[in-house]
Amino acid sequence: MRKTYKYRLLGNKTTFNRADEWLLLCHRLYNIALEQRIYIYRYNRKTISCYAQSKQLPELKEAFPEYQSVGSQVLLDVIQRLDRAYKAFFRRVKNGNGKAGFPRFKSMDRYHSFTLTQAGWKLNGKHLIIRNVGRFKLRLSRPIEGNIKTVTIRRETSGNWYVCFSCDKVPERKLVPSVKAVGIDVGIKSFCVDSDGHREFNPAYFRHAENHLRVCQRVLCRRIKNSNGRKDARILVAKAHEKVSNQRNDFLHKVANHYVTNYGVIYIEDLNISGMVKNNHLAKSINDASWGKFFKLLNYKAEEAARKVVKVPRFEPTSKTCSACGAINQELSLADRQWVCKSCCTSHDRDYNAAKNIRGVGQTLQEQTYGTGQSVS
Ligand SMILES: [Zn+2]
Repeated sequence: MRKTYKYRLLGNKTTFNRADEWLLLCHRLYNIALEQRIYIYRYNRKTISCYAQSKQLPELKEAFPEYQSVGSQVLLDVIQRLDRAYKAFFRRVKNGNGKAGFPRFKSMDRYHSFTLTQAGWKLNGKHLIIRNVGRFKLRLSRPIEGNIKTVTIRRETSGNWYVCFSCDKVPERKLVPSVKAVGIDVGIKSFCVDSDGHREFNPAYFRHAENHLRVCQRVLCRRIKNSNGRKDARILVAKAHEKVSNQRNDFLHKVANHYVTNYGVIYIEDLNISGMVKNNHLAKSINDASWGKFFKLLNYKAEEAARKVVKVPRFEPTSKTCSACGAINQELSLADRQWVCKSCCTSHDRDYNAAKNIRGVGQTLQEQTYGTGQSVS
């Protein structure tokens, strides 16, 4: 199994300056290689291959001595990135995409990372040493498993540095088999509620982080274009964004792990997330994005652990249907968090009831598809 591990990098100024320099050189090489491709095609009607371009790297190092310290694999990866961009472009053209988007020259703002493969780096406990760059300290939040195939060093717009280890042969985690089923209803008031009555609140620190982000954005709007003040404000916004997204990710991983560990079958509603994200309300849009990410995490973690995630088609009265007797309460409004069923007198929590309905519908659908082979509790 392939897996990518991402960690924050710490280090001293010299190391980061060197890494910055590598980024700049890689970024330049990318643009030079793109220019060469365009030039050769324009005047010779020929395409220069990735292989032919990479054969010229020693020449480049001779002509521009500053490239001598940069690992050959790092430079090779730049050429390969360009090649991938070309291939993706032609694939889009072939598929008849009208706006295929020819690979473009990148500004430094759009060039964020360089990649090493087998050589030029060493992992020494909590330290990552890159030859000719220096020593980074890793914030190892979880252990790396499997064989490391590539090491990508990345600078975010905020100025923070990260490393991604892409590994293969990561051992699969075996969980105790479970036939327990759960339905999950995602919402705005709380992040989600499940059919066992467990409620996951949005952590309070999100609110703080979001408020801080809003303040930073307001400052950015007031700054004059192309001024230094604006540049600083942009970094602040990027930092705030990064913090919100890191905290979100931790939270989403935690919640997804909880469900994958404890349940064999997980029913979720098939929400049209991308359709929902298009609104300007910050808190809401972050929420929408989180659900999408959460479902993705659930899917991938479930697959990894041989659990099942079943999408239940969206059906209108999820919240309005009584999960005990099936009666529909048409009078229920969005503001009603609690309600009592008129037919069977069961009192309901809105989200809990919806989660039970999602599980119910999911199980019915599965029985129709696979028969009633499994006993589900
Ligand atoms: Zn009822």
